[in-house]
Amino acid sequence: MNPNLREKCGVFGVYAPGDDAARLTFFGLQALQHRGQESAGIATSDGDELYLYADMGLVAQVFDESTLDELPGDSAIGHTRYSTTGASVDCNASPFLLQGPHGPMAFAHNGNIVNSEALSASLAARGIDFEATTDSEVIAQLLAHAPGESWEQRFGELMRRASGAYSLTVLTPDAVFGVRDPMGVRPLCIGKLNGHGWVFASESCALDLLDAEFVREVEPGEVVRADADGLTSTFPLGAAQRPKRASCILEYIYFARPDSRLGGQLLYEARANMGRQLAREHPVEADIVIGVPDSGIPAAIGYARESGIPYAEGLIRNRYVGRTFIQPTQRLREQGARIKYNPLPEAVAGKRVVVVDDTIVRGTTNPLVVGMLRRAGAAEVHMRISAPPVTHPCFYGVDMATRGELIAAHSSVEEIRKHVGADSLGYLSLNGAITATRQPGDGLCAACFTGEYPSAVPLQLDKLALETSDFHKRGTSASTSRNGAGPTRVRVKV
Ligand code: SF4
Repeated sequence: MNPNLREKCGVFGVYAPGDDAARLTFFGLQALQHRGQESAGIATSDGDELYLYADMGLVAQVFDESTLDELPGDSAIGHTRYSTTGASVDCNASPFLLQGPHGPMAFAHNGNIVNSEALSASLAARGIDFEATTDSEVIAQLLAHAPGESWEQRFGELMRRASGAYSLTVLTPDAVFGVRDPMGVRPLCIGKLNGHGWVFASESCALDLLDAEFVREVEPGEVVRADADGLTSTFPLGAAQRPKRASCILEYIYFARPDSRLGGQLLYEARANMGRQLAREHPVEADIVIGVPDSGIPAAIGYARESGIPYAEGLIRNRYVGRTFIQPTQRLREQGARIKYNPLPEAVAGKRVVVVDDTIVRGTTNPLVVGMLRRAGAAEVHMRISAPPVTHPCFYGVDMATRGELIAAHSSVEEIRKHVGADSLGYLSLNGAITATRQPGDGLCAACFTGEYPSAVPLQLDKLALETSDFHKRGTSASTSRNGAGPTRVRVKV
């Protein structure tokens, strides 16, 4: 697992007549906890009022029986957040609840908008101000104030004006929407709840937990409405207006859970196939193959199967240190890596070890892993990476680093090998990674490996750009229901 790659958010939505939507959402968010650990929130509708509760912390820390009891209704959306634009502060906890000209609406976003500063300036010029400091609030306000007779038409306005990545769940008094940006960068899928409702989730693992049947993925540029009439699909932009599909390849390599399905394939299998290909591209004589837990394990198993070298557990992960990243600063990340893993000397001592990891980003944790294995007695350490070198930053919702911080942007493979202290180092080729996804290469974003972004991007992305914007002053907005301190509890009457 690479602490230098932080997924942005997980979104969830449920329309379940007669059911307790807040509790369904609570469990759905728990399945998506890996996509964001800084804040969590749930908004519900009972058809008469919208309710919101959001706060900093893990899903199980934010919610208990009493807070869930304050969220009545049989439709809901939920959100787990990691900050990609906007600081990790309580005013940015999602979902956002807005009272716009078309009525109340709750809004949850996964991804990142690359033109949020320009959009916020144009909204501010119309007299709309902001209480939070995230791109998510900007596009929520854009949607709330968009022209159009229907929500579907307003989503069209959002798609025409917002550039970047957004998978959304949106709650109105009588419907839940699942929406994916026209490039389809971030995932979003649809499930059927035992014949009595519908679920939207960033990943299919959240459907499994609710025993919901996987129906399909929301298509790029699609708006899916779940309401009393069932499911309705709309594509607000015509085919000629829609950009080429660019689904994030790192979801396949690392971000999404291995028990989720993406592009019709179980991700555990995709990652095992990446490991097989890695063994073909970078063979080595060794005694055991180990994976860096948890995300390196499927590729390590694939490498072992293809090479015939036995797979072994060599590193044990302390599973209860997730909150090490309460403040995701570089210093804490480095400290976190030291306490996160413990090697098994009996497994690695005297052995030539192949250690498989998913990525090298800044190159801060990999030397620690190699050092641990050597101190545990490994005779040789051969590092294999189930992704190509990360050479460019992400502008679509992954907190990675600036280009200068990416070790592969300015170092050769041999220089990186020396830096991590391994006896050999091999990266999976981009073609090898694409083949393992079973997706057409021209439908994937691989910009962090190639620098070929699927849309225009700013030269630098400042995560805190909106913090310093004149338009984003916390606590000044009357239109966004945030209070800027402590948990957010809001009721809005329809
Ligand atoms: S730049 Fe990389 S992490 Fe970002 S969307 Fe593209 S492939 Fe995914």
